[in-house]
Amino acid sequence: EKETEIKCLDRMKHLPEETYDFLELVGKIGDTLDKKVYVVGGFVRDLLLKRDNDDIDIVVEGDGVLFAEELNQELKGKLLTHEEFGTASIKLQNNNTIDIVSARREYYEYPAALPKVEKSSLWNDLFRRDFTINCMAIQLNSESFGKLIDYFGGLQDLKNRKIRVLYNLSFIEDPTRILRAIRFSARMGFSIENETKNFIMEAIRDQMITKVSDDRIREEISPMLEDENFIKYVITMQTFNLFEAIDTDLKVTKETMRKLGGIQETMDEFGKLSSQQPDIKRIIITQIFRDFPINRLYDILGKFVVNKLLADNIYYTLEAKEDLYQLLTTEDLDRFTLYNTLSQHSLEDLVFYYNDCEEAYIKHYITYYMLHLKNIKLSMSGEDLLKLNIKPGPIYKKVLEGVLKAKISGEIYTKSDEIDYAYGLYKEMKGEENV
Ligand code: ATP
Repeated sequence: EKETEIKCLDRMKHLPEETYDFLELVGKIGDTLDKKVYVVGGFVRDLLLKRDNDDIDIVVEGDGVLFAEELNQELKGKLLTHEEFGTASIKLQNNNTIDIVSARREYYEYPAALPKVEKSSLWNDLFRRDFTINCMAIQLNSESFGKLIDYFGGLQDLKNRKIRVLYNLSFIEDPTRILRAIRFSARMGFSIENETKNFIMEAIRDQMITKVSDDRIREEISPMLEDENFIKYVITMQTFNLFEAIDTDLKVTKETMRKLGGIQETMDEFGKLSSQQPDIKRIIITQIFRDFPINRLYDILGKFVVNKLLADNIYYTLEAKEDLYQLLTTEDLDRFTLYNTLSQHSLEDLVFYYNDCEEAYIKHYITYYMLHLKNIKLSMSGEDLLKLNIKPGPIYKKVLEGVLKAKISGEIYTKSDEIDYAYGLYKEMKGEENV
């Protein structure tokens, strides 16, 4: 035990000075108020894994709100309290947030239920949490500064790289933990301990995931989509058939998996063709839903994205897909039609279509558009029309559009071509007007 304590303190000494000083301060305030204080959860896990984590969760054995008020006297951040829950948060000047919760001795309230072994209020607080690796605490009071508290074998599981729940009904009680287990396992490369795996499968079989609100599903899925190695989450979700559990119509086929795996490479290809950076998250979601019944798409999009505009964009991308693929398999498609069709699509659409389609033709046309058509602009302008003594008016727009069309179609190339062509068009239009 001594050994882990020393190790813990040792790790803490490698924290940024600011963080270390802060934890020390929290402990001192705990001393003053004669309350035990701890840093808990993800911060402790990441400290032991030597990973950065700026989210600090503090548990106070006593009144957390009062504690937060005292602490903020020193920190001078923005204090937000929730008296009814006994929680508070402090937003620091550097934008980091500190969360503070009160742990209460429940047996004060229910003396009859007093367990044989007296459990501390910290124990109760930690027992509410999801996985053993997230259930460790480090005491901060001066006398015990750096003491690791590990009631549930978190350190051992951390060493063995295991995700393990604390009790068998954990996933029934809160099915979002299914997603959390998958998220942590994929992110950290930990395996889900066998019994825990069975609990997950049972909970999925009992359709527990359908009881989770869209908001909470999204909260857990969103960070997966932010990770550049998102495919590992998709693979883990697939091993539990989780997509189908979320919605029976959501079948992520082998083919879709392969295409999801190809997105990064397609992005890299496009990186050579465009300086714009497409939103990969949007492309991933579009690819996941490529076979989902379009008339039900909005039902499920809410579980993945909150933004209405993003949902609309994904809808239109998928709705346009079949017609577009049809058109782009036409032989000898003319340049102007190609331009007109593809210029109506965003870069994300084009990356998606390129990645999703199977036909070499389609890929060829998209590349051709990106390379030769997308950035076509006229070299001439209205000023050149003025120099041709054409009277300014609505005809300027018509002429310039006609010239652009000819340029896109590959009929003209240079600026002097453009001007000649413009003059010809003007005369033609004038002639028509005079008829
Ligand atoms: P991340 O690095 O992804 O932020 P985290 O562990 O800090 O990981 P949070 O979602 O910020 O994750 O949650 C903070 C802590 O709250 C967790 O470490 C865990 O102990 C607890 N927790 C969060 N969600 C749940 C849940 N659904 N059930 C039980 N405990 C939870």
